[in-house]
Amino acid sequence: MSGAAHTGAGGQQTLGDLGEAGILGDIFATLTTTDAVLVGPGDDTALLATSGPVLATTDTMVRGRDWLDEWSSAHDVGAKVVVQNLADLAAMGGVGTGLLVTLVAPGSLPAQWARELTAGIAEVSAATGVPVIGGDLSSSDGAVVVSVTALGALPGGAPVLRSGAAPGQEVAVSGSLGRSAAGLEILRRGDVGWWPSTEHAGTAAGWVAYHCRPDPDLTQGPRAAEGGATAMLDVSDGLVRDGGRIAAASGVRLELDEQVVARLAAAYEPVLGGRMALECVLAGGEEHSLLATFPAGAVPDGWTVVGRTVAAGTAGPGVWWRGERATGGGWDHFGG
Ligand SMILES: [Mg+2]
Repeated sequence: MSGAAHTGAGGQQTLGDLGEAGILGDIFATLTTTDAVLVGPGDDTALLATSGPVLATTDTMVRGRDWLDEWSSAHDVGAKVVVQNLADLAAMGGVGTGLLVTLVAPGSLPAQWARELTAGIAEVSAATGVPVIGGDLSSSDGAVVVSVTALGALPGGAPVLRSGAAPGQEVAVSGSLGRSAAGLEILRRGDVGWWPSTEHAGTAAGWVAYHCRPDPDLTQGPRAAEGGATAMLDVSDGLVRDGGRIAAASGVRLELDEQVVARLAAAYEPVLGGRMALECVLAGGEEHSLLATFPAGAVPDGWTVVGRTVAAGTAGPGVWWRGERATGGGWDHFGG
């Protein structure tokens, strides 16, 4: 096999060897479907039965920018790009009904990478019951780009927007904060030969796994909507920045609970140190837990109350921590 111009460096089969029909055949053969998919992959478009308004969102990952091959497998990338999309649907109170997947890659990309990417997509698709209904393939001179468009429905009928928070409400998060950022920090330190002590290695490995393949409980989105959430989004850019988006859209102030933030940061402190631990909780992105506001007493079981809303006052909307306005720009802004 070595010496064939169209095989990869290791002599393995490439996308160029397989051809578009072969790749699509490979990919769609592994995927499941639902009754709502009236026409699936293979025709000019898919046809999906719907019973109401349709949610639509899209998210793209680019090799070298959104992931590094040294840190993330193709399986990780496939799973993560789907989760990111489904988290956006959940953040409206929605559930996914269909996924459209686009892969742009050079012909020299190992076919095995594309298969593992598909396995990652298929895993989340099967776990969440959201079928892949179509996709596209295109070639590039070197860039590898994976893009997913997700369609969804609203079980509760009405979306939860970012703009519905009012003063006197509770601010809560559906899952972890800072875990993805902590994992990324571990990877960065590992890059220069650093790894936590044996005592904490298992914990740190869990953060790394969550960074590469986050698995937030997205059923909490519709649950929060049903429970009366007044505003919601998924934490993609950090508690302070994303909280700031709810604050700005709703015209309120979000006051974070200093003790809760400290308690959450304590989990990371033995490995990352106090300063970085706090930064993970306040500014850690790609977490995809849901952040929502609820009327007092309406926070669902399992959610963590991290603060409350108050009137914006003359200083205007924003996120407050330790009595000052916090911004998402970095540690210095958190008044450490
Ligand atoms: Mg989002």
